[in-house]
Amino acid sequence: MQTPAPVDYARAHSIEEALDLLEKYGGEARVIAGGHSLIPMMRLRIAQPECVIDINELTDLDYIRIVDTAAGNHLALGALTRHKTVLTSPLIGEHYAILHDAERVIADPIVRNRGTVGGSLCQADPAEDLSAVLSALRADAIIRSANGSRTVPVRELDDGPYQTVLDDGEILTEVRIPVRPGVGSAYEKVERRTGDWAVAAVGAYLVLDGDTVRDVGIGMAALGVEHGCSVEAEEYLCGRAFTADTVEETARIAAAASSPGPDQRGPVTYKRHLADELTRRALRRAADRAQGRI
Ligand SMILES: Cc1cc2nc3c(=O)[nH]c(=O)nc-3n(C[C@H](O)[C@H](O)[C@H](O)COP(=O)(O)OP(=O)(O)OC[C@H]3O[C@@H](n4cnc5c(N)ncnc54)[C@H](O)[C@@H]3O)c2cc1C
Repeated sequence: MQTPAPVDYARAHSIEEALDLLEKYGGEARVIAGGHSLIPMMRLRIAQPECVIDINELTDLDYIRIVDTAAGNHLALGALTRHKTVLTSPLIGEHYAILHDAERVIADPIVRNRGTVGGSLCQADPAEDLSAVLSALRADAIIRSANGSRTVPVRELDDGPYQTVLDDGEILTEVRIPVRPGVGSAYEKVERRTGDWAVAAVGAYLVLDGDTVRDVGIGMAALGVEHGCSVEAEEYLCGRAFTADTVEETARIAAAASSPGPDQRGPVTYKRHLADELTRRALRRAADRAQGRI
């Protein structure tokens, strides 16, 4: 049995206290939320912080609500929102079915009961489902430090696998997704068995004006795309008619731009095939939802 190295434990009772603790340990501390990623890494000694700062008492970071900003209405998720809360939220279902699609296939109920939105994004695992979904949706991450707060597009949050652009003294506090009237969205994942990480997954949202694609986002997990999204495919489809041919070409572009690695989940050719097929499926289901067919 692997055990973590000795580590200090501190429980923060406010964001300010968590930020003070981060500053005190100067890069040698890690925030712990659900612990489903950090604790396994500590047990394997891949992560060896001097201190873990428990933020589970910061219940004011556990919410899903609409916020009115200068850039219009946004769906805001606090960083400590659990997977299960996302999965069961009617407000999420009303705006972004893609999040319910993804949460249904993330791990198992034990992980979903504790794992958080903030932890999923900050883990920056290239196979993380929520990162792909929030990249597809062009969400923003709100990051706090002792000096104030800053906003970073989720598409720019990762700084390579398992790394983010967060500085040592920063905490992710919220994710904001623009509310898009008439949007349809969907997430498609292939996994080896229920609850497993993705062999490949694709999520998409669409805003249609008749048959014309007015807005589109395409996110990918475990497919080796930069920042979890397929910009080439989005640029091709935006402004075109949504037809069988354009969907096929979008999927072809997305697959060609993907760069998956071979591993125990499958060879590259299989994953590229999935990139193509799952892009078609996600786009079609998103369109069906946008047009009220399902
Ligand atoms: C068996 C198993 C199966 C899984 N399957 C899937 C799957 O199929 N799909 C999937 O997407 N995920 C899967 N996961 C991961 C799961 O979604 C985790 O919940 C998630 O990766 C991390 O969330 P957490 O709250 O547990 O983060 P933690 O483990 O607490 O933290 C992870 C990292 O994020 C940092 N962090 C956490 N919160 C913040 C914050 N607010 N600000 C700054 N840094 C922060 C921590 O310091 C740490 O570096 C699986 C996990 C397990 C154990």
